[in-house]
Amino acid sequence: MTDRVSGPTEDEWAAAVAAIEAVPAGGRVLLLCHVNPDGDALGSMLGFGLGLCRLGGRQVQAAYPGGQQLPPALHGMPGAHLLVAPHEVWSDPDLVLCFDVASASRLGTLADRMSAPTSIVVDHHASNTRFGGIHLVDPGAAATSVVVQGLLDRLGVPLDVQIAECLYIALVTDTGSFRFEMTTPAVHELAARLLATGVAPAQIARRVFDSRPFGAVRLFGAVLQRSVLEPTAAGGRGLVWTYATLADLETYDQQPYVLEALIDSVRCTVEADVSCVLKQVAEATWAVSMRSKGGVDVSRVAVALGGGGHRLAAGFTGVGAAPDVIQAIRAELD
Ligand code: AMP
Ligand code: MN
Ligand code: MN
Repeated sequence: MTDRVSGPTEDEWAAAVAAIEAVPAGGRVLLLCHVNPDGDALGSMLGFGLGLCRLGGRQVQAAYPGGQQLPPALHGMPGAHLLVAPHEVWSDPDLVLCFDVASASRLGTLADRMSAPTSIVVDHHASNTRFGGIHLVDPGAAATSVVVQGLLDRLGVPLDVQIAECLYIALVTDTGSFRFEMTTPAVHELAARLLATGVAPAQIARRVFDSRPFGAVRLFGAVLQRSVLEPTAAGGRGLVWTYATLADLETYDQQPYVLEALIDSVRCTVEADVSCVLKQVAEATWAVSMRSKGGVDVSRVAVALGGGGHRLAAGFTGVGAAPDVIQAIRAELD
């Protein structure tokens, strides 16, 4: 693994632009993003896809592994018409770009498409394993969409309101609505450019962050009620954790996506630097979300347990009973 602090070099930018411009008329460009797409993965991919369509001349497909239904918050994003199901994805594209993907495993069954004649990895994870041909990876970028905006600028694609809506959703998702530490003056300048196209921020915020079925409100109540605070864990910095089971989802008649927002209600615990939510995906399999307020590098813990992410927001797939997964995290934290 290569931890790099600087963004793409001028050579890397030039190679990416040349590779995109080299796709012949009618050529096939495949866009991919990570499994269970979030706003940054999907927004970066579709925003770039729309930009590519504006350039014209190429065929464009967009896809993510698994192909499950998107959460309602991400329904109807501009560019959604580019999405195809995994089984419809071309087996022999001319060019592949992947967005917000730190390692090939996050592409699931679509990872083999990275063996296309040319592949470009567009990402902002410090833990990126550089698994493609050309790499536009900027660990200093608040979202993958920041890198996409740089690429569209270099391709001479002007922002319009549809491209901007995709990139804005990506940016607000990964900056936690401009609250997280990567929220630099440059991020606000990018946001200003996006808003200037006519994007409606209040409407997006309500749809993406502030909409939840009533059953999910009650489910959160039950799951938060069983949270555990361990003040001495993480070398005395404190750990707070909870878990949500498939049975919980059934009881409240909810879909798994509603659990993605749960970590935000747990991580506000002032007594703990580290927060953790286990979301059951099968009998002994858990999607684990971890957050830190700054005292702990949770990406180190996630990588050690087979996952990845950022210093203050990371995750992995936990195997076993919930107490065993928590014990593995506790051990890595100490
Ligand atoms: P989440 O808690 O799902 O919002 O994810 C937080 C961060 O951790 C994101 O940047 C993800 O890319 C990363 N992440 C989450 N789950 C995994 C996983 N199973 N493998 C690798 N990275 C992950
Ligand atoms: Mn992501
Ligand atoms: Mn991201």
